[in-house]
Amino acid sequence: MAQRGSQLDPLKFSCSICLDLLKDPLTVPCGHSYCSSCIKRHWDVEKNKGIYSCPQCREEFRQRPNLKKNILLAEIVE
Ligand SMILES: [Zn+2]
Ligand SMILES: [Zn+2]
Repeated sequence: MAQRGSQLDPLKFSCSICLDLLKDPLTVPCGHSYCSSCIKRHWDVEKNKGIYSCPQCREEFRQRPNLKKNILLAEIVE
């Protein structure tokens, strides 16, 4: 999926874990966004395997990435 373009694509405002609108959106280093509770729960499971991955593009992170709050998205979905 293309990440470029600034037009409002509803898919970009939904979380691929809960398939709902992003709540308290966080952006992972690959650029995908998830609800903070969804991605934390996802990583709590993966923690046992020693990896953290993006559920959407499967990019793996060695360490639990520092999540940035996506302020722009948060304002849009609020
Ligand atoms: Zn979610
Ligand atoms: Zn990703």
